[in-house]
Formats: sequence, structure tokens, C-alpha cells
Amino acid sequence: MEKKISPAKVVVLGEARVGKTSLTYRFSSGTFNEHQPSTVDATCIEKSINVNGNIVKLVIWDTAGQERYNALNQVYYRGAEGAVVVYDATDLDSFKKMNQWVTELKNYLPAEIPIMIAGNKSDLYNNIAIQQEEAKKYAKSQNSQFVATSAKTGTGVQELFTTLASRIIQNQ
Ligand code: GDP
Ligand code: MG
Repeated sequence: MEKKISPAKVVVLGEARVGKTSLTYRFSSGTFNEHQPSTVDATCIEKSINVNGNIVKLVIWDTAGQERYNALNQVYYRGAEGAVVVYDATDLDSFKKMNQWVTELKNYLPAEIPIMIAGNKSDLYNNIAIQQEEAKKYAKSQNSQFVATSAKTGTGVQELFTTLASRIIQNQ
């Protein structure tokens, strides 16, 4: 029997300027805006994707830049069925701080929700500060999956959200 798949809330986390909004925008509209305003309203975009013949609607929450000031609040996390934690592959600090986001996420959400780790800005290959092996090792330690992405070129973006969606379906 076909399984009924409900819309799934996904939260996007990570330090300011790593490319959370750009990744969300790339996934939903297929384009990139070089001059992405750093503080925009909290957005919540919906996008349906096909995962092995199943249509899954993702409701993706992107921050309004609150990540600059401190932790996001409970409302942001409530009911999320999946998460994307983003770092900037050219910025070691953003990789180190990812652990704080993963820890916070695990405080608010059940342990079984799937988490994806996105190493973004992979197009800046001359300036990569974190080797993929290290990122994969970290992802594995968190029972998570790593994908190298570029919101600019689109590399890895579909894979990131499709893999997450397929893990969400398995949980539903
Ligand atoms: P956020 O604060 O995490 O939402 O990050 P933004 O999406 O606002 O992006 C911050 C800056 O990084 C902007 O100037 C973007 O144009 C740039 N940016 C985002 N993603 C990429 C990427 O994949 N490659 C490159 N080269 N720049 C990116
Ligand atoms: Mg943003």
C-alpha cells in the first residue's frame, strides 16, 4: 500500500554568512543572488520534491539573521522533522561552531530526526579550510550525513535536500 506522506518541516542552522539563505533560495528557485541581504525576514518556503516516486513537501525554515545574536528559540525548532546544519568550507570557525548548533538542535528535537551537514561554498576550491574527510568524520559521529554544496553553482544542493527528504520519509 502507498504510504501517506505529510509535509515536513525542515530547519536550517549554522553561523551567519555561511550561506543558509542562499542554499534555501537555490533549492527553491534554482538561482543564486550574489547580493543576498544578510538580514531578511524569517522565511518559510515550501518545495515539493520527488523521492523515488514519492512526492514530499518540505517546509523549509530559514532564519531572519537571529543566529547572529544568540540561540534561536523554541518556535523555530518546534515540530521539525529534519535539519540542515551549514558551515562555510572556507571558514574553519564556522565548522568548529557547528557543534554548538548540533547540540542545541538535539536539545530541542528528538534524537531520531535526520540531520544533514552541508559544507557550503565548495566552489571556492582554492580556499577550502576543512578537508571533506574531516567533515565526513564529524557527520558520522553525529549520526548525520555530509554533502559538499555550492549555492552559487548548485552543486550538491539537490542531493542535500533529497537525501534529507528520503530519511524523513523513512521516519514517518
Ligand atoms: P546566511 O547568513 O547563512 O543566510 O548566508 P547568506 O546566504 O546570506 O550568504 C552569505 C554570503 O555568502 C553572501 O554574500 C552569499 O552571496 C555568499 N554565498 C552563499 N553561498 C555561497 C556559495 O555557495 N558560494 C559562494 N562563493 N558564495 C556563497
Ligand atoms: Mg540568512
